[in-house]
Amino acid sequence: MRQKGRSKTLVVGLGASGCAVCELLLSRGAQVVATDLRSPSEFGGALDPIERAGAQLRLGGHDLEDFLNAESIILSPGVPLDMEPLARARSRGIEILGELEWAWRQVSLPTVAVTGANGKTTTTALIGEMFKQAGRRAFVGGNIGTPLSRWIVSGEKADVLVLEVSSFQLDTASSFRPDVAVLLNVTEDHLDRYPSFEAYADSKLSIFARQGGADFAIINGADPVCVRRAGEIPGKLLRFGATSPAANAALSGSTVRLNIPGMADMEISLEKARLHGAHNRENIMAACLAAGCAGIGPEAMQAAVDAFEGFAHRFQRVGSWKGIDFYDDSKATNVGAVVKALEGLEGPVLLLLGGRDKLGAYEPLLAPLAARGKRVFAFGEAGPKIYDCLRACVPAGLYPDLASAFRDAVARAAPGDVVLLSPACASFDQYRSYAHRGDHFRQLVAELGDFQFRQQ
Ligand code: ADP
Repeated sequence: MRQKGRSKTLVVGLGASGCAVCELLLSRGAQVVATDLRSPSEFGGALDPIERAGAQLRLGGHDLEDFLNAESIILSPGVPLDMEPLARARSRGIEILGELEWAWRQVSLPTVAVTGANGKTTTTALIGEMFKQAGRRAFVGGNIGTPLSRWIVSGEKADVLVLEVSSFQLDTASSFRPDVAVLLNVTEDHLDRYPSFEAYADSKLSIFARQGGADFAIINGADPVCVRRAGEIPGKLLRFGATSPAANAALSGSTVRLNIPGMADMEISLEKARLHGAHNRENIMAACLAAGCAGIGPEAMQAAVDAFEGFAHRFQRVGSWKGIDFYDDSKATNVGAVVKALEGLEGPVLLLLGGRDKLGAYEPLLAPLAARGKRVFAFGEAGPKIYDCLRACVPAGLYPDLASAFRDAVARAAPGDVVLLSPACASFDQYRSYAHRGDHFRQLVAELGDFQFRQQ
């Protein structure tokens, strides 16, 4: 029998962060109802601890009564904000907040937060490495790795929070106010979830919304949206990457020059940097500014830049075969990331792209493809749309899946060419995740020993 009655808190979505929220609430004696669309069998025993601790579980669907009886509702990332029960609860004035917002309220630590369409994970981790090199304890997580609520449950200590923040987490925040906030770029993404590009940009810009005059706001001085909307930002504005002398972090040859008001100028060399490509130079400049604003000195920044290797599936050279280079950029799930990948390569590029369409435009690929694209191999659900968009300007072929696209790319590649998987799409049409897709690409490369190479 379902027990109905007044519940204090409803937790929606029972992944890693939802379960951690439940654990914390229950340990403080709160009354918790926890709901998820998945059925009990899909969880294995993952919910046993919270059920034993007293959470009332509603699995296999949501019950409107739970939403209307809650005093507050805490959402896990990915829960659709427009679903009917939430709309009804909202109209009754029930507080609805995201896991990050809720968890952040429980912690009182200086906060560095990073958002953007692309580069969040890389930049957040690099900032974390800078703190580590400086001997300061940072919790690095949020949208990557460990959710903030899970870290609170762990009881570990830190001096600072370094958080990757997604637009969903910003949309469900109402008091989140980082001391240092970074907006890396705003290019089209998630148009399947936002009514317009401007609505997506609003979401990204909201990372600065509650900052005061003493907080630092770091933006990309070469990003059109950042530039256009800089006037709305209330905090101390710092820019990276622009060529104008007004930039607070700029490149001079292979040196990043930092000029943060009130601090001595700093220089960081990129000679030994292990992150490559123009986009990663932007990430490094942003990370240096953020760390500098948080009081990290140039030695720690330099040590981090020299040590940090980045992550798999992000513009990674996986090897070469018969003079052809292979790059795995499976994490490039939007067009902006693919543009940067193409700009970071010299040789003729055979570009493999496709997957689940995210409703953005593929036209921004035309200019970099005209410069260095040899042929496009469009695959998966979005293949026909991509093929139709690009084929007038660049040689293109249409394939049912990555494996067939890959085989034809290898057959058509010549020594000196680059075969690049940079899909511009989500992976879920044929894969569990971008990592699953990237691993498949690597496996195809590894199997090349048996493949009959055809010279052009
Ligand atoms: P995010 O966490 O925002 O998805 P990642 O660091 O995981 O960012 O990188 C995702 C994709 O974006 C990869 O293809 C990567 O090469 C590309 N990328 C990384 N930094 C940038 C940047 N500053 N601008 C454009 N693309 C980038």
